[in-house]
Formats: sequence, structure tokens, C-alpha cells
Amino acid sequence: MMPLAKPHIAAMAPYALATLEVPEGRRLVSMAQNESLRPPSPQVSKAIENALQGVQLYPDPDWFDLRREIARVHHLDADLILCGAGSMELIGCLAHAFLGPGAGVVTSQYAYAFIATAAAFTNASITHVPEKQFFVDVDALVDAVGNDTRMVFVANPGNPTGTRIPDHEVRRLRERLPVDVILVVDEAYGEFCDADDDRVFDLAGCSNTVVLRTFSKAYGLAGMRVGWGYFPSDIAGQTRKLLNPNNIPACSQAAATAAMTDQAYMKATCRITAEIRQEFTDAMTRAGIRVVPSHTNFLLLELEDPNSAKSANAVLVDAGFVMRGMGSYGLPQCLRATVCERDDMRMASEILTRWRKGK
Ligand SMILES: *Cc1c(COP(=O)(O)O)cnc(C)c1O
Repeated sequence: MMPLAKPHIAAMAPYALATLEVPEGRRLVSMAQNESLRPPSPQVSKAIENALQGVQLYPDPDWFDLRREIARVHHLDADLILCGAGSMELIGCLAHAFLGPGAGVVTSQYAYAFIATAAAFTNASITHVPEKQFFVDVDALVDAVGNDTRMVFVANPGNPTGTRIPDHEVRRLRERLPVDVILVVDEAYGEFCDADDDRVFDLAGCSNTVVLRTFSKAYGLAGMRVGWGYFPSDIAGQTRKLLNPNNIPACSQAAATAAMTDQAYMKATCRITAEIRQEFTDAMTRAGIRVVPSHTNFLLLELEDPNSAKSANAVLVDAGFVMRGMGSYGLPQCLRATVCERDDMRMASEILTRWRKGK
């Protein structure tokens, strides 16, 4: 007899990551997972080497150095910071702590897919409300909130749209939500648009709002699995119980701490990314391919129809360039392209331009 999983788990599809397959002999250019176009700060490898002395011991379960450094850079209270094995762990634990059968999450049409997975972990329901031209619509979110709603989840900037609503819109959303509804603001790409005015962290101090960030994107540490969030203290306390104790390896904590310390390097990454993003956008515009304006390290390309997207994608994959298909987001006419190194990005835009001309 096979042991039976709970019915709502048995009904779940496995989480779909990108498939990174190119023809044999082709160099893979990964444009599918929004990773950084360059390695992390040189300080990171030194920190990892130091941390290797001592890996017979469990890592710091309280992330003391890392929280202290985040708090210093962002002017936050270190006691209200939780760190996760990626911000995905924090999203999952928030769901386990606050959602369940009969509870609902409200999010936007093209919300980051993992929130639906996290809701499904707990058998909670999820409502996606329409966006306006790929922008989160605050009023539509508020209108969709019902008696069962326990959480509203917004990624800002959004993934896969790349658009960003102004901070005053996030504040307006908070003001219009019932006080007992948790607002989760996922700022995985926040660094790419910081001037850095530290955004909406203060909401965590005065309302049931959680602000999430990650080291996976602007800091170039996707492989180290470190995310963090700024939490109201009660919500932090409940969420913390569900985190894996010792969740972040010592080398990862050291790497993230060093990366946070080197703000100049991270800002340079964001600057280079924005330059290449602009070049690619200009080339696509010249080629007659629509690009959604982005505040992130990726771009959403909108082709005429699903078949065009399929045909463009086939030509790219043939040459080793793997973007992300958007069918699972209900956008089969779109491809999402991570901004990668300048030469590769130029090559991708040349391939697409030629493809477009040949049509
Ligand atoms: C990449 C991403 C994350 C991050 O995940 P990690 O688990 O920290 O690697 C979270 N939210 C959004 C919207 C993302 O695009």
C-alpha cells in the first residue's frame, strides 16, 4: 500500500522551474531565472573561505552578524529581521503560519507564482485580480478582499511583469485593507529601483505588513539561498517557529553579510544591469517587438501571439539562449528575458531582430 498524501498535496503539481536545455555542443546562456549578470562582490569569496574554518559546527541559528549588517545598511531594527533559506522559505512559512482551509490570499493577476504554491501547501484559496496593463491595481485588490481573506501578496516590482507601483500606492493599499489582513510586499527586485530611499520598511513597524528582500538577485547570491524580511514582532514570532532551525548554512550567512557590506558593488551591478536593459529595450523597439518597461533585471517581451512567441523561442534556444516561457502565467504570447552580460544580450537582440525581419 502506498501511503496517502493529504488530498490537497496529492492534487498539487510539482513546482515548475525553468528547463535549461540547449542543443548538444551549444553554450547555454541562461536568461530564464533572473540571476545576476555578474558574480558577487570579491569580498564574498574571502568571507566564504573564512567561514569554511568551522563548518563542523552548526551555523548561527539567529543570523546575528547578517541581521546586524542588514539593519545598519537599511536603518532597521535588527530584532524585527528574519532570515530565510531564500525568501521563498519565508513566504512558505508565512503561509503555514497564517493560511489554511477556509482562509484566502488575494494577489494580482501576474503575481509571482510561488505565492500560489505556498497557499496550496496549506489548502488555502487564492484569488488573482486583474492588472491594468501589467501594473498592480490597488483598488481591484482592495475590492477582492472578503471575510475569509487573511493575506494580500504583492511583489513590487512585479515578476514576471517588471513593473513597479509607487510606494505611495503600496501605502494606500495598506490603509485600505482591514487591519487584521497581512500585507506581504515582496521586494525581491527592490535594489534595482532604490535610490535607495528604503521604501516601505516602516509599514512593518506600524501595521500587519511584511517586507521581503533577497540576496538572490542584485547581490548575485542565488546559489547561496539567503532571503530576509522585516516583520511586525508578533508575525515574526509565529513565522519563526516554522523556519528550519539552522536554516542558513554558515558559508551562506558569511557570503550574504559580506555582500551587504559592499553596497557600492551591488549598486554598480544595478547600474550595469539598467544600462544593458536599456540597450536591449531600444533594440527591441527598433525591431518592432514590444517590451514592458522594467524596474528589474529582466524584461517581459510581448510578441503578437502565442505562435510568434513559440517561434522566437525556438530560434533563441537553437542558438543557446534560454528565456522563460510565460504560458503558466496566462501569457503564452510573452517571453521573459533576464538581463545578462552585454555581449550575450546583444547577440540575443540580434537573433530576435533577424527573426522578426524574416517573418
Ligand atoms: C526571485 C524571487 C524571489 C526569491 O527568491 P529566493 O528564494 O530569495 O531566491 C522572491 N520573490 C520574487 C518575486 C522573485 O522573483
